[in-house]
Amino acid sequence: MSRHHDPICESSGKVRFREPKDIKRALRRADQGRSRARLNDVTSNRREIKSYNCADCNGWHLTSQQARPIRLVPVARPIAIIPGPAASAMRRMASATGFTVAAA
Ligand SMILES: [Zn+2]
Repeated sequence: MSRHHDPICESSGKVRFREPKDIKRALRRADQGRSRARLNDVTSNRREIKSYNCADCNGWHLTSQQARPIRLVPVARPIAIIPGPAASAMRRMASATGFTVAAA
């Protein structure tokens, strides 16, 4: 039952699939493992349910995480609050630049 011909992704350490159809086959295998486990009344360790395209190896991996198919980077908070003095300094700078551009 052990299959070791699948290449392993160096960055994720997961089995690397070349194409989505390989993923489908693997998912089916995982699903069969699950139902077999159910029949035998044991807990299956096959929990792969999702696949995602890996940017590091350009292949496909299986993951049991539903919510995060891709790496999420926190969005930088926009600078919304500008303290008074800084804001007026920026306005001065902006208008100064405006005058310079207009004069040229
Ligand atoms: Zn990878």
